[in-house]
Amino acid sequence: MARLNFAELLLVLVASQQLLAAVIWLLAVRLRVAPRVPSLHWVAASAWVAVCAGLPVLMAPDPWYGFGLPALLLPGALILTRLGLEILFRQPRRDGEHLFVILLALGGAALGFLLGAGERWWHVQASLLSAASLLRGAACVHGAARRELGLRGARLVCWPLVLMALLFGGRGLGAWLQPEHFAQAMTADSPSNIALLMAYLSMSVLFHVMLSLTVALRLVGKLQQLSRLDPLTGLSNRRGLEERWVSLRHRLPLAALAVDADHFKQVNDRHGHAVGDQALQHLAELMRRSVRSGDGVVRLGGEEFLLLLAHTDPEQARQRAEQLRALVVGSPLRLDEGELALTVSIGVAVASSVGPPGPLISAADAALYEAKRSGRNRVVLGALQEARS
Ligand code: GH3
Ligand code: MG
Ligand code: MG
Repeated sequence: MARLNFAELLLVLVASQQLLAAVIWLLAVRLRVAPRVPSLHWVAASAWVAVCAGLPVLMAPDPWYGFGLPALLLPGALILTRLGLEILFRQPRRDGEHLFVILLALGGAALGFLLGAGERWWHVQASLLSAASLLRGAACVHGAARRELGLRGARLVCWPLVLMALLFGGRGLGAWLQPEHFAQAMTADSPSNIALLMAYLSMSVLFHVMLSLTVALRLVGKLQQLSRLDPLTGLSNRRGLEERWVSLRHRLPLAALAVDADHFKQVNDRHGHAVGDQALQHLAELMRRSVRSGDGVVRLGGEEFLLLLAHTDPEQARQRAEQLRALVVGSPLRLDEGELALTVSIGVAVASSVGPPGPLISAADAALYEAKRSGRNRVVLGALQEARS
C-alpha cells in the first residue's frame, strides 16, 4: 500500500478505534456486565463506522467506493446507535422514522448521482441526516433517562449526542456553503478534513465513555433497587423500609400495622417449606391488594410484615387492619390437596407527628404481641397512639 497521508492515517485510527469499541462491547455482553440487545446494536454500529472510515482508505482513489458509499452508510450506523439507546431506555419502537431516514439517504444519494451533484451532495445529505438523527435520538431518550437517572444522568446521556450532531451539522453546512473547503474526499489531506477527523476521534471516545457510564449507572440503580426488595414476595425489605419511610413520614397521621402470620411454623411442619413460601407469597399479595398506591408494604423478615398507611387516623387504621384480617381469613391458599386456612394477628399504632420509624414500629409491635397473647387472629390498637421522636 502506498504511503498514507495524515487524513488517511486518521481514518485508519477512527476505524481501529471503532473496531476496538465493538470488541469491548462484545466482551461486555459476554461477561454479562452490559445489556445484551442494546450493546449488540452498538457493536454493529461501531463495526459499521469502522467500515465507513476504512473504505475510503482501502478503495482510494475511487470516489464511489471510497467516499460516496461510506457517506451513504453513515446514517445507518447512527440509527443503530440510537436504536440501542432507545431499547436501553425502553422507548417505543420508531421503525417508521428510521425507515424514513434510510429512504431519504438512499433517495438523496440516487438523486445526487442522477443529477451529477457528486461529492458535495453526498457530504451534505449524509451529514445533515446524521445530525438530525442524533438530535432526534437525544430528544427521544432524554425524558426516560431523566426519570431513571435524574437530570445529571440525562445530560450525561444526551450531551455527547448533541455535540456529535453539531459536528455533523457543521460539516454538512460547510459542505453546502463552502464546498471547496469542506466537500472533499475524506482522504484529502485538507485542514477541514483533519480537523473534522480529530474532532470525531475525541468525540467518539466521549460517546463510548458516556455509553459505558450510562450502562454502569443503570446497573448500579438496578442493584440498589434489588437490594431493597425481598426476593420471595417482591415487597420492600428492611432496607427498602427506610426509603418508604422518607416518602411517607410527613403524610400524617401515619398508621403502622405490624402483621404476623399465626402458627406459621406449623404450616412448614405440616406442608413443607415450599408450601410455606407459597403461603408467604399469598399473604404478601393480599396485603399488596389491601393498601392504596403510595402506602408501604414491607416484609420485615420471616412471617412478619409492616404496613404503613398515609393519612390514616387510629379508627381508620383499626378498620383497615380488621378488613385485612378478615380478607386473610376469607382467602385460604388453594393447594392441590385442598385449602390451607391462614390467619394473621395485627398490631396497630399511629403517629401524629414526624419522627423516626423506631418508636412507631415498637408501638405497633407491642400491640401485635398483645394480639398474640390474647388469642391470635385479631387486631389490637396500641396504647401508644401518638408515637413521637
Ligand atoms: P406465632 O403465631 O406466635 O407467630 O407462631 P409462629 O409459628 O408463626 O412463629 P414462630 O416465630 O415460632 O415461627 C415462625 C416460622 O416462620 C418459623 C420459620 O420456619 C418460618 N419462616 C420464616 N421465614 C420463612 C420463609 O421465608 N419461608 C418459609 N417457608 N418459612 C419461613
Ligand atoms: Mg408468626
Ligand atoms: Mg413472627
